[in-house]
Amino acid sequence: MKPFAVLAALCLGWAGAQSAAPGVLTIRFLDVGQGDAVLITSPEGKSVMYDGGRSESRMRELIRQYDIKNVALVVASHADSDHITGLVPVVALNRPQLFLNNGRAGTTQIWNRLTNVLSQAGTKGMVAANQNINLGSVKLTVLAPPAGMNDQNTNSVGLLVQYGTFRALMTGDSETPETAGWLRQYPASALGPIDVYKSIHHGAANGDSAAWLKVVRPKNVVIGVGPNNYGHPTARALSLYQAAGAAVYRTDLNGTVTVQVQPGGQYSITSEKGALPVNPAQSRPTPAVPVVPPAPAPVPSPTPVPASAAPRPPADVYYPNCAAVKAAGKSPLLRGQPGYRAGLDRDGDGRACE
Ligand SMILES: [Zn+2]
Repeated sequence: MKPFAVLAALCLGWAGAQSAAPGVLTIRFLDVGQGDAVLITSPEGKSVMYDGGRSESRMRELIRQYDIKNVALVVASHADSDHITGLVPVVALNRPQLFLNNGRAGTTQIWNRLTNVLSQAGTKGMVAANQNINLGSVKLTVLAPPAGMNDQNTNSVGLLVQYGTFRALMTGDSETPETAGWLRQYPASALGPIDVYKSIHHGAANGDSAAWLKVVRPKNVVIGVGPNNYGHPTARALSLYQAAGAAVYRTDLNGTVTVQVQPGGQYSITSEKGALPVNPAQSRPTPAVPVVPPAPAPVPSPTPVPASAAPRPPADVYYPNCAAVKAAGKSPLLRGQPGYRAGLDRDGDGRACE
């Protein structure tokens, strides 16, 4: 199917109200345990489900919890069960118009089950081919697997989401041969910097690499991970994210992680369990930022950090109050940014000194 035909298809059949806030793009990294599922809802109420996690029953819970509806496009990054199983109820309930995939049939029962449900729903298949798709006012760019990849992981379908200046990127369970192919294929400016980035392959050791992250330059990383026997997320991946200076969210510690993006591209990140990100973004002091000496009194911390979260490194920037934040031109201060603390965020929405 050609890109223009895809656009036409996506513009058809949209009906009904969606619970999206006006003008706001919402991306939810759903807590599906060990696996990936990302729901992208445009300001116009159009939704895409990128992967669905490993459990149909868990996805049905999430569909109820987040009132997931009007999903017109489902994407399987690849055919592994921890990515496609939860797509079954999403397809059955939403009857999406399109199913974007890597064109390589799975060999599992759940693949057969998904293809049966897709055909019952009248959903058309679409093979990844570097298409651009307009999801309302949100631009989606499909990163097709480069030629010559030979298994499911290295044939993962990537998706770049752009809204204003905001960019998010997810690339399934890619491995180094695939990301190296993309590095050859795309200019660095097309791949980074990325505001919110999905950790490759649940933080596996063969997913993200220093060469790839040097170009992607993620500011925030979300790892879709739950109890597992693979050692995910690995120390190697976590240290790569730390070296990149990214704040790290994990669905096993933070629950579902929600990103809300304003029309200009300003964004906030909140998490279901309210836990702070592991390794919050390190500040890089510049002359423009007044570094206020540490306050003599202990800073009240109304938001307890769960024992499961790693301790926060000391912030290099401390703002005693919102007047100082505004004077520094940093208002609103988003969770994860240098100087953010719960004491400045009275309504706890991840945006301090609004
Ligand atoms: Zn996986």
